[in-house]
Order: sequence, then C-alpha cells, then structure tokens
Amino acid sequence: MSAPTDQRPPMAVLDIDLAAIRHNVALLRERVDRPLIAVVKGDGYGHGIIEVTRAALEAGADGIGVTTIAEARAVRSAGIDAPLVSWLHAPGADFEWALRHDVEVGIGAIEALEDVAALELPARLHLKIDTGLARGGCPPHLWPQLVARAAQLARDGRLRIVGIWSHFACADEPAHPSVRHQLARLHEAADVARAAGLREFALHIANSAATLTAPESWCDAVRPGIALYGLDPMAGDGARFGLRPAMRASARIMLAKDVPAGTGVSYGHTYVTERATRLAVVPVGYADGIPRIASNKAPVMIGGKHYRIAGRVCMDQFVVDVGDDPVQAGDEAVLWGDPAYGEPSAQQWADAAGTIHYEIVSRAGGRFLRRHHDDLRADSDEEEE
Ligand SMILES: *Cc1c(COP(=O)(O)O)cnc(C)c1O
Repeated sequence: MSAPTDQRPPMAVLDIDLAAIRHNVALLRERVDRPLIAVVKGDGYGHGIIEVTRAALEAGADGIGVTTIAEARAVRSAGIDAPLVSWLHAPGADFEWALRHDVEVGIGAIEALEDVAALELPARLHLKIDTGLARGGCPPHLWPQLVARAAQLARDGRLRIVGIWSHFACADEPAHPSVRHQLARLHEAADVARAAGLREFALHIANSAATLTAPESWCDAVRPGIALYGLDPMAGDGARFGLRPAMRASARIMLAKDVPAGTGVSYGHTYVTERATRLAVVPVGYADGIPRIASNKAPVMIGGKHYRIAGRVCMDQFVVDVGDDPVQAGDEAVLWGDPAYGEPSAQQWADAAGTIHYEIVSRAGGRFLRRHHDDLRADSDEEEE
C-alpha cells in the first residue's frame, strides 16, 4: 500500500477553528474578572490538547488544567511553560516528574499528600474537598486531618498549598439546590484550612456552567472546559452566550445511488425506503466515534440541506436518504459544526444519541483527519471567493 499523499482530499475531517477557541476564551476572560484555568483534558475535548492550549494562552487564559500527569507531560513536551495543574492520579502516579516540571498537583487524599511530601521537591498543591459530587476529593470528615498535615508540611517548608478546590455535580441545572450547598461546603472547608494555618490558597470550583450562570461561585479562579470549545453546558445553543463552536465534522460522500421503493437499508434493514429514492453513503462509523445509537436519528447536512441518517450506523460508514436531490460521490456531508452557518449542532447529535455534546466531540477520532485552522471561517470565506 502506498502512503496517502497530501494532494488527495481526505475522506473525513475534523476541522478545528482556533479563532473560535480564542474568541471563546477571550469572551469568558472578559466576563469573569478572575484568573481562568483553561481545561484541556481528554485531548482538549477531542480538539487537540497542544493546539487548544496554545490558543487558550494566546487569548488570555491564566493557566491550564489537565487530568493526568501524562497530559501534563504532553503540554510540557510541546515547550509550553504556562502554569499547569493536573488533578487525576492513580496510586503510583509519577508525582516526581510533575514536580520536576513545575506542574501543580491536585490532592484529595492523605496518602497522595505523603507520597508528594516524601519526594522532598518544591511542590505546589491544590487540596480537593468533596463538597457533594462524591467522586474525587477528600470527604468532609477527613478534611481536618488532611489540612492539618498539609499545614504542618507547609510550615516545615516542604510544600505549598496554592489551591483549595472542588467540583460541582449539577451546575448545568442552574437553580439546583446542590449548587448553593456545595459552595457553602467549599467555604467551610476553606475556613477549616485557614484555622489550620493555611493562608495563601486560591479557592476554585466553577466549571463552564457555573462560570456562565453563577458568579457567586467564581471565587478566586474559574475552570471552564466545554465553553472554550463553544458548546453550551446547559444543552442550549452556545450562541446565546456569544460562544462559537470550534469543531466541524465532515466527510465526503463515498457513493450515491438510486434505489427502488421498499429497499431495506444497512444492517438489520431498520430503514426501508418508502419510494424510489437516492442513497448517499458517508464513510465514517462507530470506529470513528459516530454513535451507533444515533442510527435513524442524527442530522447530516449535504448541499445546505438537512437529512437524517437512514438505517444503522456501521463501523465504517452510514447511509443518508437524499430523496430526489442530485447528491453525488465527492459531495461534502457536514455532520456537526456551527448552527450559525446552518450546520447541524453537536447538541443535535447528542440528542440523537441520548448523550451530551461533550461525548460527541471528545470521542470523534478514528479515521477522521484532524486539521487545525488559524481562522476556519475566514479560510472558508476565502475559498468561496
Ligand atoms: C472537566 C472538568 C472541568 C471543566 O468542566 P466543563 O463542564 O467542561 O466546564 C472543571 N473542573 C474539573 C475538575 C473537571 O474535571
């Protein structure tokens, strides 16, 4: 097999608009007069961790948030020396690498605190309190013990506690009573830490939903993720906040053909044509992150017109019934992009798949070619000229 050449048009593309990312970061940074930690975990929610990190920093992000130390390593290996915090660690995590590369570490358990202290390296830590998500973080009954030990280590000059933080369970439902409750628990935890002698920490809890809807939660810094990518954490249209989606997923029609009425389409024949019609085959499937559960549901735009997937999504392809429209092999099918340009939204795909757009964008991969654009919409406006 010969390697594909650059001249051949790719079959399927994730176009990432770095101008949209910069726009979204700048917008949030302006609305929120606090430091902004841009969350780029999960390969930048599927948008590319390095490119997203650079764009976010250019647009005014104050720091970068990742989950694993492997992600922190990717950022540092790209030569990015911005403030960086990593907060998801299994036992045996490589804290030494993190500390030697100036990575701040989130800690939610006394064992992890002792592991870090034992390294006897300069360490900047963010202590995590579980205020009600019941996922990571120190449960409230162990918090006094964790902060007492941290304060002792800090007094001995062995490490610094630069953050106290938590994570919301239901901030995407703005009136949910747990938001107020979790915020109150966070402030109590900060009081306990102060009483133990810790003083210099920044308090942070706000994800995108809270950053957009709950100013009382902004504390000393905000940690938005999904909003940087232009998507609305409350499952609406991000445009209502001025956000611009940064990912456009498209593929070139592989084959278009006319079939008679009564044709069963794709595995299981779950779609049967009602009349003579034209079918277009789109060459991406569940191996590329297209959810199979979106079979017969998700929207696809071809030639400016919206259609629905016909029949089951397969591993490598799915079919669209385009009726009488003269769709041809090679035509572009847009799966999701920016509704402001008439394209289907990642939210519509999420609705079709019974999930959230976070999952749609962060799982897109496989054989999609991911391309980064300094300004996608300006680029495509030029192409049209
Ligand atoms: C993912 C994550 C965020 C960002 O959440 P969004 O809903 O994408 O804004 C913030 N903080 C933590 C701890 C996270 O894991």
